[in-house]
Amino acid sequence: MSGCRYERLSGVKPPALPGIREVLGEASIVLREKRFDPSRYKGRGDLAYWVLRFIGADVIPLGECGGPITLEELGFYRFTDYDPYSVARDPLDLVLAGKPTPLVALRLERRGGPRLWAKLEWYNPYSLSVKDRVAWQLVKLILEGGELSSYEGMVEVSSSNTGIALASLSALLGVNFKVVLPSHASIENERILRLLGAGIERVCGGITWELVEEVKRMAAGQRLYNPDQYSNDGNILAHLRFTARELIVQLRHAGVKPSKLILVSGTSGTASAVSFALTNYYNEEPPETVIVVPAPGEKIEGIRRLESGVKWLDMIGVDYMVEEVTRREALEGMRIAARANGVIPGVSGGAVFAVAKRLRERGVISGGDEVITIIPDSGFKYPEAVKAALGAPGEG
Ligand code: PLP
Repeated sequence: MSGCRYERLSGVKPPALPGIREVLGEASIVLREKRFDPSRYKGRGDLAYWVLRFIGADVIPLGECGGPITLEELGFYRFTDYDPYSVARDPLDLVLAGKPTPLVALRLERRGGPRLWAKLEWYNPYSLSVKDRVAWQLVKLILEGGELSSYEGMVEVSSSNTGIALASLSALLGVNFKVVLPSHASIENERILRLLGAGIERVCGGITWELVEEVKRMAAGQRLYNPDQYSNDGNILAHLRFTARELIVQLRHAGVKPSKLILVSGTSGTASAVSFALTNYYNEEPPETVIVVPAPGEKIEGIRRLESGVKWLDMIGVDYMVEEVTRREALEGMRIAARANGVIPGVSGGAVFAVAKRLRERGVISGGDEVITIIPDSGFKYPEAVKAALGAPGEG
């Protein structure tokens, strides 16, 4: 509404976060209607703030403004957080430099065929992965609350990307950081974490809920803050405010209307946010969501089966199809991606390509489809997988 007064959201002291279901419910209305009605939030400034922060608004209206406010007026389509010249005056600002991460129309086949619009998250600075944004929000939330100083440091269980991103941020903030490393974590990742100054605690077993609970107990016993990416709503917040909003703005700029989303799931933060945002934003003809997980007993770095516990996927009110991938298929997907596009996704990105190829063969994806995905990290991180991918089926 013209004549309305606004304040930058970044200048407002955050109120306590209401329940995530309530925030998502309101966010879905704003994304569907593409406008925000301040009169819905009388006496609920807390809810108004968090809805706007989650969807990726730049400003918050002061008062009722006499009617609804469009997404344009909320600064949803402007990347004001980002310096177009990519100048960062502090390494901490790198998290927003060079953004948005590129959205690229990748090919599934060497020539022709449907496009796979892929957002390349290895363009993030610290962990070279999708997890920088999450780590940053987790840290930001506790810093904003002013609570970090009451702890001796932080502890998180992670085998790779989240741990590395948190280790970088901890180094920048001068915070002690301990990573609990499951037994399958690679020695290279352990060295990187050590180089960043993180303390390491190796434990037996994978990242199961038991391990997450064990780390919570360790944190309480040692006065450490445990961000816990598996349950902390800062995870889905980071992906809604940044990853998903960037995607919507980039697709709009490219004139692309998504018909399918193929998304991998680990904590489910990325997939839940992207599926939620795009399904609601394109509510008149929503894209179909396909969630990619490892087949039973298969190991694909960064992703896991849904029954191992995901917080947000069944909270977003979106129907989805699940596709299971073997490691061998994911490696073949890495090779398809590399040969058709000259860029090498990590193993979970390879799993996306494997599913896209499968759906193409089944006729679920056709030439007219606009398929959207997020590639979490780069194949350069996985030398063993690159070696194995050379021997994947069909190698000529
Ligand atoms: N792929 C890789 C390489 C990852 O590191 C992760 C998360 O750590 C994922 C996929 C899954 O992302 P999310 O936890 O948002 O589901």
